[in-house]
Amino acid sequence: MDEKDKEQKNVTREEHLNENEQDYEKICYICRRPESKAGNMIVMPGNMCLCHDCMQKTFDSVMRGGVDLSKIDFSQLSGMPFMNMNFVPAGNRQDTTDTQASNRQKIKKKKKTGPEFELKDIPAPHVIKSRLDDYVIGQEHAKKVISVAVYNHYKRVYADGIKAAGKREEEDFGRQEVDIEKSNILMIGPTGSGKTYLVKILAQLLDVPLAIADATALTEAGYIGDDIESVVSKLLAAAGNDVQRAEHGIIFIDEIDKIAKKRETSSRDVSGESVQQELLKLLEGSRVEVPVGSNQKNALTPLKTINTDHILFICGGAFPDLEKIIKGRLDKTVSMGFGAELKDKYEEDPNILSHVTNKDLREFGMIPEFLGRLPVTVTLERMTKELLVKVLKEPRNAILKQYVKLLEMDEVLLKFEDEALDWIAGEALKRETGARALRAILEENMLDIMYEIPKDPNIGEVVVTRAYLEKRGGPAIRIRRQEH
Ligand code: ADP
Repeated sequence: MDEKDKEQKNVTREEHLNENEQDYEKICYICRRPESKAGNMIVMPGNMCLCHDCMQKTFDSVMRGGVDLSKIDFSQLSGMPFMNMNFVPAGNRQDTTDTQASNRQKIKKKKKTGPEFELKDIPAPHVIKSRLDDYVIGQEHAKKVISVAVYNHYKRVYADGIKAAGKREEEDFGRQEVDIEKSNILMIGPTGSGKTYLVKILAQLLDVPLAIADATALTEAGYIGDDIESVVSKLLAAAGNDVQRAEHGIIFIDEIDKIAKKRETSSRDVSGESVQQELLKLLEGSRVEVPVGSNQKNALTPLKTINTDHILFICGGAFPDLEKIIKGRLDKTVSMGFGAELKDKYEEDPNILSHVTNKDLREFGMIPEFLGRLPVTVTLERMTKELLVKVLKEPRNAILKQYVKLLEMDEVLLKFEDEALDWIAGEALKRETGARALRAILEENMLDIMYEIPKDPNIGEVVVTRAYLEKRGGPAIRIRRQEH
């Protein structure tokens, strides 16, 4: 983190502390009503507060008792200059620190009147994309679509904030009010193509809380499994139980293809179509009561109400067999026209998923209402060998960079032959789990090196060779030059 970031963090922390201070209001020492109900308070020496009514009553009774007002020090009063008196009930004077605590109470959170953040706080699409580029290899189109969708989503949140405040931006005058619709995202891509990774990086760069839920665990309310609302309670937990922060967060629902409508429905479909139905209200924005600090609602867990209107929902899945559906449709259209060679083209197309339409997804088993609430569809490409090699070495926290750093601490230089990287990527392809396989393959093959190298302080450099990975030889080792 650079100095600027640290400074920024300190400033926001201070602002936070000041905000906390503003979260309290004075309460009357006698009637215990807060300032918001009883009006301005008069602050007595020792930080004791009295409301106007109680002050008046006290004043009247003192007058009846014949007190000499000339002996009272009016200069000590603050907060209510129009009231000419000063009174501390005898024997009721407490220690300052005690009274300070009991004279204030937490203000009930008022509805914010303005937008919760400024337009300038939302990174522009090209900025989002370039930050994603630092970590996510390939998926150029997906990164572009997501950057725009996210930018639009937070613009909508901003516009709603303005609307709620009853304000209009100056240049909006004279124009008709336009409601921006939610831009939830449906992400389709093979396993290990970076769906979850993209969302994680996105949440990090936007500094918003993220909850990742698995659609396979969700069931219709009342059945064994997690209720739909559990995804929102996960987000609340990720936001440190801060409702406002949670309401601007991101919920990623993985394996969404697993809640497709079951084709042969002899039994009740409690984890398929009905889960899609129940998700509808969350996706379009509704108020849900979620338990704090638990997945289950019961009499003992406190509940908080969360409005999901400004939560960005991203649903992801591998959608196996969707490729077949798309190919089938495309083949039909081609066979009605001229090109027989076009048919082969689709047969070979590695990115057939990018031709997906809503109709294909409906055929897969997603209900139209559900698809309607995920207006942005993003497809991710299957990882090729070239992309896998790049994933190994290029991202900011690439796996190879991590191993290099680990051995650097032993003052050993670690290198990988290009041929070795090619072998690793080839092995990963065989496992058919995309980039996910890379780490496992490296862990398996780097174990001996990571174990043996620190034993010998004379080793200065290790080169991981293809021969070593294929178990035909050892890594190339160079001994440190001895200093005399
Ligand atoms: P899935 O698409 O199944 O959700 P993940 O996003 O969980 O896959 O990917 C698993 C891991 O593989 C990630 O943690 C990340 O390290 C790596 N990875 C996957 N795709 C990419 C990519 N395009 N660029 C860089 N790393 C990737």
